[in-house]
Amino acid sequence: MKKTFVTLEKLKEIAEHYPTPYHLYDEKGIRENARRLKQAFSWNPGFKEYFAVKATPTPAILKILHEEGCGTDCSSLTELMMSERCGITGEEIMFSSNATPPEEFLKARELGAIINLDDYTHVEFLNKLCGIPKKICCRFNPGGYFTISNQIMDNPSEQKYGMTKEQMIQAYRRLMELGAEEFGIHAFLASNTLSNEYYPKLASQLFELAVELRRETGANITFINLSGGIGIPYKPEQPENDIMAIGEGVRKAYESILTPAGMGHVAIFTELGRFMLGPYGCLVARAIHEKHIYKEYIGLDACAVNLMRPAMYGAYHHITVMGKEDQRPDHVYDITGSLCENNDKFAIDRPLPKIDIGDFIVIHDTGAHGFSMGYNYNGKLRSAELLLQEDGSVRLIRRAETPEDYFATVIFD
Ligand SMILES: *Cc1c(COP(=O)(O)O)cnc(C)c1O
Repeated sequence: MKKTFVTLEKLKEIAEHYPTPYHLYDEKGIRENARRLKQAFSWNPGFKEYFAVKATPTPAILKILHEEGCGTDCSSLTELMMSERCGITGEEIMFSSNATPPEEFLKARELGAIINLDDYTHVEFLNKLCGIPKKICCRFNPGGYFTISNQIMDNPSEQKYGMTKEQMIQAYRRLMELGAEEFGIHAFLASNTLSNEYYPKLASQLFELAVELRRETGANITFINLSGGIGIPYKPEQPENDIMAIGEGVRKAYESILTPAGMGHVAIFTELGRFMLGPYGCLVARAIHEKHIYKEYIGLDACAVNLMRPAMYGAYHHITVMGKEDQRPDHVYDITGSLCENNDKFAIDRPLPKIDIGDFIVIHDTGAHGFSMGYNYNGKLRSAELLLQEDGSVRLIRRAETPEDYFATVIFD
């Protein structure tokens, strides 16, 4: 059984101030999880999580994570600007972009961010633009398939990111000629993994590469960035990742590969998004229509612009009908939004208790890649974001869009 972090009583209280739909975040859950991650990697003195801003680009969230010791992983101009305005600058920013526009490199350089180059050609591009910083990172793509115990997790050879090993060697050499003194390695090879083996397996590959790169180029490698990819159980029957076991798996790889090579000073970085926020956010909506044709439909006041993952990837998001947690799921519904797009369905053929008009519907695990993927199709407006604070009070952290926001960029005459 998947539980909501908010009670029906609380939702009724919130309803006195804020209409549905809205995204709600759980401060306590976010902080506790961030502390667990830190604990899991406490064996590595240089460890740092750079939260992937694209997952939840909301200042209140970035500040909470910053208080817990996290920096930011940015990949666009506005993400860099948001980070700056949250007081997160310098080497607390990892700039992991691709097909990067020049003004974004310039902003990253101005802020003193650690720049992670996606391609060999970016070495000269960055050098011409603003010179090479002393500390720099290169993104690796090993090609082929990424497997764990003979199971294919992802297909890096079809991914647009990163450099081949030969290009990594060339890039390091050229960067050293251009004045770089400290190097990092980055790779993101599989997304939303539910396996305690992903990070340790990735880490082993990158640690071996680090030893080889140092041997080939003499580069001073000071950090390895395992990036994102640790997943969350969206479905009730899926097992959770054990972050302690993951940290321990990475430690074993570190001690068997890096330490014997005299590289026991290397810092481990992560750029987790989904794992940091996914379970600690939900989309709160209300049932506003029911419809009985060839199937049973419940229409919500939220739609795919508030949460795109089901429409875009057919992603599963668990749904709780608030106040009916203990009732039998003896109805089968399609739960829909109001877009003129038939894929605007939060759930298809979902067994749920009987839903009545006005019921609060909580859509789980929307804390990452939820609000942030929102868009304005059909002239629909983005919702508010609220924070359930540790003391139980609720704070508005982003207001809902108004029609005036929507019209702000159009030219009527
Ligand atoms: C999206 C992304 C992340 C975060 O991924 P999650 O799946 O949310 O952990 C980290 N790093 C980079 C470069 C990304 O593009």
